Amino acid sequence: MTTRGRFAPSPSGRMHLGNAWTALMAWLSARSQGGAVVLRMEDLDPERSKEHFARAILQDLAWLGLDWDEGPDKGGPYGPYRQDERREYYQRCLELLEARGLVYPCWCTRAELRDAALAAKAGSAPGTGHECGTPCVAHADVVRAPHAGEAEPVYAGTCLNLSVSEREARQAQGRRPSLRLAVPALHIEFTDLALGPQTQDLAAHCGDFVLRRADGTHAYQLAVVADDAAQAITEVVRGADLLDSTARQIHLFRAFGWPEPAFAHVPLLLDPDGRRLSKRRGDVDLGLLRESGVSAQAITGYLAWKAGLLDAPRLVSPHELIDGFSFAPMPRGPVVVGPGWMEEVA
Ligand code: GLU
Repeated sequence: MTTRGRFAPSPSGRMHLGNAWTALMAWLSARSQGGAVVLRMEDLDPERSKEHFARAILQDLAWLGLDWDEGPDKGGPYGPYRQDERREYYQRCLELLEARGLVYPCWCTRAELRDAALAAKAGSAPGTGHECGTPCVAHADVVRAPHAGEAEPVYAGTCLNLSVSEREARQAQGRRPSLRLAVPALHIEFTDLALGPQTQDLAAHCGDFVLRRADGTHAYQLAVVADDAAQAITEVVRGADLLDSTARQIHLFRAFGWPEPAFAHVPLLLDPDGRRLSKRRGDVDLGLLRESGVSAQAITGYLAWKAGLLDAPRLVSPHELIDGFSFAPMPRGPVVVGPGWMEEVA
């Protein structure tokens, strides 16, 4: 089977070195297997996604020397390649699960979810008998790719246990619920191409997760699986901040009866203070680097060196790295990008 890899950027900002790193590794892995590269724009979040960022991302990827066989700018057999244009398809997928009784409405507010998660952390049993009595909020955090620190708290199952009359009472108030998948007590095992064998306890680590927000937006977990399946993706290479999502996604692939792709989670690039790189730091913003005259080959060389693909940073194009690409020399833990990183560049 031909490898089909993908980049799935969210157009909520300009690209920084961390996004370039992930895109480069996804591209190298697919190309080193003679595979196709699919570019999918994950612009599902109406508040954060901006068209000018989507355009800039395409330009920045091309400037880096990466190319793709299918994408929003060039079409392809598995389009559309923008999530914004695939909402009806996500709804049909959701309805497949609903028809099997796997989905239930949840009226919990964000404050209640936070309190329940805190209570669970403190060791008291949250959930049973807890009232979802206050107005619903759009669970804005769940539609986003849940980066480290922004993850959805494990749900206590509160609304799963509502009686019919309790559900009707909430419905009668006219509040729109979010929709959650009821997850069984299961361990999901998979072998990550970069990190090796992984086990995640679905119920304990993820809980019943949101498939559609109260405002009607389909959640990242549902959309990404629906798209990877429909676009025949065989390999997902992405940042280690999304490792936590993988059990949920594998569970969804299996629940739908779709073949699951292989996964590789590449280390995060961090600031010296341990935070994820942010475009607020000017010296890692791809647009600013480009404008200040830094060459794409110098950036690629630095990233390839950090990935263990080069012994020392040098000017190199992505194409020169295809031969012999492997995840094996890549560090397992995060990679710190210090303020002087540019001096290490050729
Ligand atoms: N859109 C996500 C992001 O930009 C990536 C999702 C994925 O690769 O599964 O972080």
